[in-house]
Amino acid sequence: MIYFKNVSKVYDNGSVALDHANVHIKKGEFVFVVGASGAGKSTFIKLLDHEELPTEGTVIVDGIDVTKLRKGRVPYLRRRMGIVFQDFRLLPNKTAEENVAFAMEVIEAPRRLIKERVRNVLDLVGLVGKADALPKNLSGGEQQRVAIARAIVNRPLLLIADEPTGNLDPETSKGIMEIFTKINHMGTTVVMVTHDQTLVDMMNKRVIEIVDGKIVRDVQQGGYDYED
Ligand code: ADP
Ligand code: ADP
Repeated sequence: MIYFKNVSKVYDNGSVALDHANVHIKKGEFVFVVGASGAGKSTFIKLLDHEELPTEGTVIVDGIDVTKLRKGRVPYLRRRMGIVFQDFRLLPNKTAEENVAFAMEVIEAPRRLIKERVRNVLDLVGLVGKADALPKNLSGGEQQRVAIARAIVNRPLLLIADEPTGNLDPETSKGIMEIFTKINHMGTTVVMVTHDQTLVDMMNKRVIEIVDGKIVRDVQQGGYDYED
């Protein structure tokens, strides 16, 4: 699903965000990416969706060489992934349901399919009762669940989450992890950047740790820290 082959990213100001990184993530895996602020985690994600290009090396996502992708093909790459952010990024003037439907409208899905799929994903994230609520009337956890529904409604192969629980309390965060687990069990590959030690330790999934742009640890079933 994802290959990083000898990938380095040096920004124009000389910051080395990734330093000869090699990673292979298989279809269906659930992977945490951990590391201190400035370690290179966001850069790792930005290289997946062609927001940034590597200075050196090759990035392959679902058989697509992202580093050789022409601009016009970027939307096709991005359709293969759903992205969830720490700050939810919902459209404030659209209801929960409309926020999710919008992701299908932009790819011109047929109306009947939109209706059916939106109901299904709102059910999956436990929000059918809040379909008509605006984001400002939803809790943080509920807003994040809308964002997750929006990210998966087009059935991406890959779900990317950048600090998805960063603004949520521990109980709410656990609920979000249960949803990610369900989505992962449906076959979607999940890559989640996080600082949340409790969640990583609880989940016992693959952990990739980045320090100063270098992958210093990559364990199949690990915790946040080394001592496991
Ligand atoms: P993290 O997500 O782990 O906090 P980042 O990938 O955001 O780390 O950043 C890695 C390094 O690259 C840091 O030193 C950061 O300052 C630098 N960096 C990130 N984005 C840019 C940019 N657009 N221009 C210059 N330097 C950047
Ligand atoms: P269709 O709407 O094409 O008839 P189904 O609803 O029967 O498809 O689902 C087809 C497959 O996709 C099932 O295996 C189902 O578990 C899976 N699936 C449904 N929704 C999602 C989703 N959001 N993410 C990943 N897989 C999903």
